[in-house]
Amino acid sequence: MRLVTAQGGVSFLRSDLIAFPHGFATRLGGVSTLPHTASLNLAFGRGDEDAAVLANLARFTEAVGVSGEVISLPQVHSTDVRTVGEADRGLGYQRKADSACDGYVTAAPDVTIGVKTADCVPILLADEEAGIVGALHAGWRGTVAGIAREGIARMIALGADPARIKAAIGPSIGLCCYAVGEDFCRAVAESPCAALCLSHIHREGDQPHADLPAMNTAILLSAGLSAEHIDTAHLCTCCRTDLFYSHRASRGVRGTMLSIIARPKGD
Ligand SMILES: [Zn+2]
Repeated sequence: MRLVTAQGGVSFLRSDLIAFPHGFATRLGGVSTLPHTASLNLAFGRGDEDAAVLANLARFTEAVGVSGEVISLPQVHSTDVRTVGEADRGLGYQRKADSACDGYVTAAPDVTIGVKTADCVPILLADEEAGIVGALHAGWRGTVAGIAREGIARMIALGADPARIKAAIGPSIGLCCYAVGEDFCRAVAESPCAALCLSHIHREGDQPHADLPAMNTAILLSAGLSAEHIDTAHLCTCCRTDLFYSHRASRGVRGTMLSIIARPKGD
């Protein structure tokens, strides 16, 4: 994973594994000026004027080189992954109260899909030979419920081959900062992905800590991806508040990042 800074100052992470246009936004290079949203806040309702969020969205999509009409509905920590196509262009960015979704897959060119995070795990997926991409929002609930497995299943249904799928796991809260309680541990033990996830709760020290990127990696491997096709940012949003928004570090007073991918036009 590499940090790229585009003209105009927008900084985002991209994976060398994936050639299709994609990026995990940092908080750098936008127009938001509030202390907690400065500067590339990509969500409405965090304190910025809507115009600032829209300007940030335009800057970020231009920097990544994709259509600015990003599909990203409200997120609810589900395992719902929606297959979208040409007709869904303009489906909505964040504001659509009657509709929520935590992941997207598409085989349509020039349809930009995205997920919003600020500690949760963003996952971007691509089978470039088949021309199929995916974007997933994996907080702890979605992670242990198996949204990564669902995302891969949706891509396979469109014609992707898991042996070809590349996954980029973006910046999220890391093991270092993700102290969890016993109720969390119980919920993981009772979840559909318990067998893959429980070993990624570490119990050294006074409090258990969970490794969400490692849990998602384990699920992706079990879904048929190969280890060399999984690229992880290994950057903790909670440690690196200079680069990222963190829900935990800011106690909820924060902006939001966006991670996007698209199959390019004419590919
Ligand atoms: Zn950390």
